[in-house]
Amino acid sequence: MHLFAVEGLPEIEPGDDLGTMIAERADLRAGDVVCVSHTVVSKAEGRTADLADYEAGEQARDIAARIGDLAGEEKDPRFAQAVLEESERLLTEVPLMLAVTRFGHIAVNAGIDRSNVPDAELLLLPENPTASAERLHDELDVPVVVTDTSGRPFRHGQRGVAIGWAGLPAARDWRGEHDRDGRELGVTVEAVVDELAAAANLLTGEGDDGLPVVVVRGFDFGDHDGSDALFRDPSGDYVQDALQQWEFDPDRLAEKGDGASDDSDGEPGGDEP
Ligand code: GDP
Ligand code: MN
Ligand code: MN
Repeated sequence: MHLFAVEGLPEIEPGDDLGTMIAERADLRAGDVVCVSHTVVSKAEGRTADLADYEAGEQARDIAARIGDLAGEEKDPRFAQAVLEESERLLTEVPLMLAVTRFGHIAVNAGIDRSNVPDAELLLLPENPTASAERLHDELDVPVVVTDTSGRPFRHGQRGVAIGWAGLPAARDWRGEHDRDGRELGVTVEAVVDELAAAANLLTGEGDDGLPVVVVRGFDFGDHDGSDALFRDPSGDYVQDALQQWEFDPDRLAEKGDGASDDSDGEPGGDEP
C-alpha cells in the first residue's frame, strides 16, 4: 500500500467543484481511497464565517468570561457563540469547549478552525461530512474519507481522524477471527477510516503545504465484516457521561502537578481543535 498527495490544487472557493478538481489532478484507479481534508470541503461548501456574523447570547458571554479569566486574556464571546451554534451540546464549557457536533463527532470548539482560512475568520466543519463524502464518492467513483486534525484525551499531540466517509465501511470487525494461538478475538473492531485519515495527515501537514487531498493506493479491507458505527452513542459512553457531569476545578488539578491534560496542550480555551 502507498500514499501520495494530490499536487496543484488551488485555494478552494465557495461553489468549487472539488470532485472534478481532484479527478483532473489525480489519476485515480479502482481500489484507491481518497482522503480529503475537511478544510477544502468546508471552503467549497461555503462554510466560512466571521465573528461579526454572531451575536453572543448569555451562555456564550458567560463561557467566554470564565475561559478568559482562566487564560488571563480576553476571549471573544462571539467565538463561543459560533461554537454553541455548531454544537448539538457541550460536554465541557471550561477550561475549553468540548462539543458534540450535530453529526456525532466530538471536538474542542466544535472543530472550528482559524488557520488556513485566508478570506474569513472562521472555518466551520461541513454540516454533514458523510453527505459531503457521498457526493465526492459519486463523482470520483472510489471510496472517500473526509478528515480533520484533532486532539485526543490522555495524549499530547494531534492526528488525523475521519469525520465522514463513503464507499467503504468505517471499521473492520475482527470478532470471531483468530490470533496466532487460535484464540478467538472477542472485541477488536478496527476503525480503518481513522487509520487512513491519520496516515493521510502525515502527508497533508498542518501548515502551508497546500496538500489537502491524499490518495491511498492498494489498501485492502480484506475479508471482514464492516461496520459504520464510529461515534459512540451517548447512552453507552461512560467517558461522555463522566465529562458531562464533571466540573472544572483548577485547584484540584494544580495539586496533582502536571495533571491538566486537555486537547489544547494546557491552554484554556485553546484555539486548536
Ligand atoms: P484540517 O486539519 O483538515 O483542519 O486542515 P489543515 O489546516 O491542517 O490543512 C490541511 C492541508 O490542506 C494543509 O496541507 C493545508 O496547507 C491544505 N489546505 C488548506 N486549505 C487549502 C486550500 O484551499 N487549497 C489547497 N490547495 N490546500 C489547502
Ligand atoms: Mn480542521
Ligand atoms: Mn490538519
